[in-house]
Amino acid sequence: EDRNLLEADGSVMDGDRYAAKQVGVLAVVGRPNVGKSTLVNRILGRRAAVVEDTPGVTRDRVGYDAEWSGHDFRLVDTGGWESDVEGIESAIASQAQVAVSLADAVVLVVDGQVGMTASDENIVRMLRASGKPTLLAVNKVDDSTGEYMAAEFWKLGMGEPYAISAMHGRGIGELLDASMDCLASAKKTSGFLTPTGLRRVALVGRPNVGKSSLLNQLAHEERSVVNDLAGTTRDPVDEVVDVDGEDWLFVDTAGIKRRLHKVSGADYYSSLRTQAAIERSELVLVLFDTSQPISDQDLKVMSQAVDAGRAIVLIFNKWDLLDSFGRQRLERLWETEFDRVTWAQRVNLSAKTGWHTNRLADAMRSALESWDQRIPTGKLNAFLGKIQAAHPHPLRGGKQPRILFATQASNRPPRFVIFATGFLEHGYRRFIERSLREEFGFEGTPVQISVNIRE
Ligand code: GDP
Ligand code: GDP
Repeated sequence: EDRNLLEADGSVMDGDRYAAKQVGVLAVVGRPNVGKSTLVNRILGRRAAVVEDTPGVTRDRVGYDAEWSGHDFRLVDTGGWESDVEGIESAIASQAQVAVSLADAVVLVVDGQVGMTASDENIVRMLRASGKPTLLAVNKVDDSTGEYMAAEFWKLGMGEPYAISAMHGRGIGELLDASMDCLASAKKTSGFLTPTGLRRVALVGRPNVGKSSLLNQLAHEERSVVNDLAGTTRDPVDEVVDVDGEDWLFVDTAGIKRRLHKVSGADYYSSLRTQAAIERSELVLVLFDTSQPISDQDLKVMSQAVDAGRAIVLIFNKWDLLDSFGRQRLERLWETEFDRVTWAQRVNLSAKTGWHTNRLADAMRSALESWDQRIPTGKLNAFLGKIQAAHPHPLRGGKQPRILFATQASNRPPRFVIFATGFLEHGYRRFIERSLREEFGFEGTPVQISVNIRE
């Protein structure tokens, strides 16, 4: 936590410039155990160390930054789910669906040692219906004597099978060369890189909190929930929605409308989609159903948005269902469960009746304004000097930890780097954050502070 956030040259790239550098988004799909994770780690190479897998928690990162011979691209890993034998086909279908909606090109991985299976053929059908350019990688071809195994897969009709060994690194260069060509010629439809000038908004919350209803209410039209997989894969992932006279890009509305019922791993997929939507957004609208108890899952979604450093607005929906007793219960919860986000704006509304939905736009604009905000270094240091003089850090071992200098390393969200002599206690950092918020606003955005110790 005490790392300096500044790059070596003192700059920090912002999200837009960063996205502009990337050539596209490549997804890796395939049935379980064919070697997708091994391939992803192989492609990420030494960066794989960045893949922070917490034991007991499903991988909830979706995209990784990768690089191949001078091309930066985004690698989408849709593995990580538990498959039971019964639900396996629908799970594979959901996986392909998620991958296709997020990517510009797809690598389908099959197992050369096992040979062609019915599941492989099903995935091929879906990928073909999606129209996304797809490469076929036949994995576990560990040495040249196994090359013949790949030939069998010509039958899938996906063009030349690339014989690879993710484990030993064979054939990976050729596969990546072809993938880069594929990305270069692919139509860029991936939501990760949607090149619009519009602010990107994610609408998140657990099932049934009212996401579709709110979307309908804002767009003033009835939308149909489309179930047919083959027919919907070409749907735009994102939608432009006018809120209070301004156009916003709502990311992954396809994911909101498309329900994954009774699918093995459905929870995993909805959390994968949620994470992807958060990653792609600038502003996250976190919905809660106030007619139900606030659950751990509700709070987890909110934390995902905060941890990702996005601007947020909290929406307490279904207000029309609350009686005065319910309102009291909710205010108590607000005091206890939401103390992590006391800086966020909360809008009580009813997606169903439209009550107070007109209050949303102001909250959205103000959260993004905070998220974008930059405090000039002079002003920042003058202010910190003043609060430090009034409230110095407590003495530690007879010494006085002092702030020497601070700078805002970046915005979106605001990140501050403080240079200090000695360790600044957690409590003192909280005090600084509170003071910065009181002085400069930052309503609706997380603020990140790191301390760099100069002895
Ligand atoms: P995933 O479920 O598709 O992500 O598959 P994993 O990457 O977890 O791999 C499944 C199993 O296949 C693991 O035991 C891997 O060690 C093994 N595996 C992956 N790649 C290769 C390979 O190139 N050759 C061989 N022989 N085994 C592999
Ligand atoms: P999603 O799964 O988050 O997209 O939730 P939906 O928009 O499908 O809503 C789930 C259910 O809650 C539906 O029956 C909606 O009609 C209902 N609902 C959504 N918003 C409200 C609201 O503000 N008030 C009431 N009374 N019902 C709502």
